[in-house]
Amino acid sequence: MSARFTGSFTQQEPIPEEGIAAAVEAMRHGRLHRYNLVPGETGEVALLEEEFAAFTGARYCLAVASGGYAMATALRAAGVGPGDAVLSNAFTLAPVPGAIASLSAHPVHVGVTEALTIDLDDLAAKADRARVLLLSHMRGHIADMDRLMAICDAAGVTVIEDCAHTMGAAWRGVPSGRHGVAGCYSTQTYKHMNSGEGGLIVTDDAELAARMILLSGSYMFYDRHGAAPPPEAFERLKWEVPNVSGRMDDLRAAVLRPQLRTLAARCDAWTERYRAVEAGLRGTPGLTLIDRPEAERFVGSSFQFLLLDWPAEAVAEVVARAAARGVELKWFGEAVPRGYTSRYDAWRFAPAEAMPATDRVLAGLLDMRLPLTFSLEDCALIARILRAEIGAVAARGAPADQRRA
Ligand SMILES: *Cc1c(COP(=O)(O)O)cnc(C)c1O
Repeated sequence: MSARFTGSFTQQEPIPEEGIAAAVEAMRHGRLHRYNLVPGETGEVALLEEEFAAFTGARYCLAVASGGYAMATALRAAGVGPGDAVLSNAFTLAPVPGAIASLSAHPVHVGVTEALTIDLDDLAAKADRARVLLLSHMRGHIADMDRLMAICDAAGVTVIEDCAHTMGAAWRGVPSGRHGVAGCYSTQTYKHMNSGEGGLIVTDDAELAARMILLSGSYMFYDRHGAAPPPEAFERLKWEVPNVSGRMDDLRAAVLRPQLRTLAARCDAWTERYRAVEAGLRGTPGLTLIDRPEAERFVGSSFQFLLLDWPAEAVAEVVARAAARGVELKWFGEAVPRGYTSRYDAWRFAPAEAMPATDRVLAGLLDMRLPLTFSLEDCALIARILRAEIGAVAARGAPADQRRA
C-alpha cells in the first residue's frame, strides 16, 4: 500500500576497475603532479585533455581543480575583472555567482521560465548591462541556443557556458559547451563523471586557451599539455598572466579517463531513468512536468517538476510526506538555503532586483537526483510515491484551478 523507497539518492556507481587500477599505478610511482613526468611520458591529465577535447569536438581543453574554478578561469581569461557586471542565471547553483564574485565582479541575475531555462526576453532586456553571460544549463535544461546566441551576438555579449549538468548533452546536435566561447564542466562526485572534485574547460579560441592554461598554474610547462595551442600562443602572455594555481592532478585524471569512454552510454541510462519517472508522474493533478524540446538532447541525471502556485505549506507537506517514504526532494521555494540548494535572493553579496515571474517558478520547483544506482523499477516506485503523496495533499486543499498536468 504505502511502499517505502529504500535506495540512496546520494549513492554513485563505483569508479570503473580500470580507473582504480590506473589510480593505484599513479600512487605507486608517486608522480601525481601533472608536470612531474619521466622523459617521453604523457601524463594522465594531458591525455584526459586530449580525449575530452575530442569528445566535445573542441580544439583546446584544460583540466582544473573544480567546476567553479573552471568558470572563474574562463571569465578571467575573457577579461572579466573587478567591478564588472556579468549576466547569469537567477536559477543556478551557488558556485556560479561565486565564480563571478571571486573576480570581484557581480552577477546581473536573469530570470527563469517555466521550462526552467534562462528567460530570453529578460536576457534581451538586460543584454546591454554586461559584456559577458555566464550561462548555466542548470539541472540540464538547455535554452533555445539559436535564439540565445542571436541575442548575445547582436549585443556583443560573450557567452561562457556552465555545463555542470550538460556534459554529454547537445542542442540541435551541437554539444553543450560548444555554443559559447568556452564551456565549463565539473567532475565533482554528483556530476556526469566523478573524480570527487575536478573541472574541465573547452574552447576553440587559442588566446583564451593560452590565458586559461597560464592562469591554471602551468608555470612554463604549457608544452606538457594535451590539447593546448602551440608555444607561440604563450610567448607574449607568459609575461602578463598570473599563476592562479588550480591544476588537476594525475590521480583524478586517471579515475576520469575510463569514465569518459562510457559517458555516452551512461548519459542514455540517466535519460531512461528520467523518462521512467516522467511517465509515472504524467497526469498527476496539480503537477506540471517540464517540456523537453525536440532540439534538446538532455542528460536526465536529475528530475524537476513544478507545483505551480501551490501554497508554501502544501509544498512543504509534499516534501515531508515524500521524505517519510524515502524520496528526497529539494525545494527551491524554501525561504532559507538548505544543503546544496539556495536561491538568488540568498546570495546577499549580489544584490537582486525583484523578479516575480522567477519567484513564482522557484516557489513551486522541486528537484531530485537520479543516480545510476537506481533501477528503472526504482524510478517507477519513486513516481508512484510522489503521485500518491502529491495527490493526498492536493485532495485536502489545493484549489481546483491549480490542477494541471
Ligand atoms: C556543481 C555545479 C557547479 C560547480 O562545480 P564544482 O566542481 O562543485 O565547483 C557549477 N554549476 C552548477 C550548476 C553545478 O551544479
